[in-house]
Amino acid sequence: MKTKTIYIAGLGLIGGSLALGIKRDHPNYEVIGYNRSDKSRNIALERGLVDQATANFAEFAPRADVIILAVPIKQTIDFIKALADMPLKDNVLITDAGSTKAEIVIAAEKYLDPSKVQFVGSHPMAGSHKSGAIAADVNLFENAYYIFTPTNLTRETTIPEMKDLLTGLHARFVQIEAAEHDRVTGQVSHFPHVLAASLMEQAGDYAKDHELTNHFAAGGFRDMTRIAESEPGMWTSILLSNQEAVLGRIADFKTHLDNVAQLISAGDADGIWNFFNQARLTRKAMEIHKKGGVDSGFDLYVTIPDEEDSILKVLEVLRGISVMNIRINEENREDINGILQITFKNQKDQAKAMALLGKHEDYNVTL
Ligand code: NAD
Repeated sequence: MKTKTIYIAGLGLIGGSLALGIKRDHPNYEVIGYNRSDKSRNIALERGLVDQATANFAEFAPRADVIILAVPIKQTIDFIKALADMPLKDNVLITDAGSTKAEIVIAAEKYLDPSKVQFVGSHPMAGSHKSGAIAADVNLFENAYYIFTPTNLTRETTIPEMKDLLTGLHARFVQIEAAEHDRVTGQVSHFPHVLAASLMEQAGDYAKDHELTNHFAAGGFRDMTRIAESEPGMWTSILLSNQEAVLGRIADFKTHLDNVAQLISAGDADGIWNFFNQARLTRKAMEIHKKGGVDSGFDLYVTIPDEEDSILKVLEVLRGISVMNIRINEENREDINGILQITFKNQKDQAKAMALLGKHEDYNVTL
């Protein structure tokens, strides 16, 4: 059986999860890794994410058929520069995992030699608030977009080879130009992080003079600000490597806020109604309603009676199914019923849970 050596630099959440996904469908491939800190390196070895690990990036590079750089963006660029001077296998396939693409693609085109190496940018579009090898998860990328951004070092065979390597991720592969990737993620990912953090900053300031702010903040506020708990280091590098797009979205959003402010000050009820209605229609038409894409899972809502062991009984029915998250939507509690929100990693688990809970008369289950 044809085997390959895959070298993953950065055995964190993303690198570790990629390692597991590669091993799932290619158990005969050798997966070797680099990690700066002992901690993730040792965990990666203990959990079998990689067969061998080094603390010296240059040590394993010459052995690799494929090199995946799964380190922060700035470090990815430094490693691309370093690879240009290393003795690598002919035609080695190099890729990355960075959340922004243009800077990385430009660096690859600038420093790497297309007659010697192949390069394609990659962005596996799934994540979690967790980090490090301990958080690596073979199902992290299930149903998520896995984006390829071609370069002038991408050959006809490069993306097919990547897709074959990554079949075990069960991701949805998409190809797009790096600059367009950065513009679109600027709108749907980077700018929302700025907005969520700004909203928290505003509410924090407000709470200094209005003590009840913290108590009254409920479901809507929580949903709007969940991503404000993201890792600040990663988001600093993302904004700094996508400045133009993010600044553009901020300027544009100011005009949207000004427009609604005008409707409110004019007392324009129809205008305000249309504003909310259009938002509702636009959201309904978006793919977020159809799949667990970036950062999200598959939810079930279960109405449960407010009595002892209610949650335990539901979980007992779900024994054997992997539950990603569970929460009680308290603000939805009226009289005796509470809504339990259970999140699953994939649609299969969600459907299985729906079928099992649906058999019980006590539970009203909705998707
Ligand atoms: P992580 O913190 O879990 O892992 C980062 C890895 O990079 C660790 O192995 C760490 O040791 C290593 N590292 C950090 N700084 C380094 C340095 N200066 N030199 C050498 N190694 C260094 O983070 P992650 O979530 O796995 O992120 C890795 C890459 O994936 C980043 O480029 C990030 O933009 C991208 N990404 C992250 C997510 C997400 O939501 N977490 C999603 C998609 C893509």
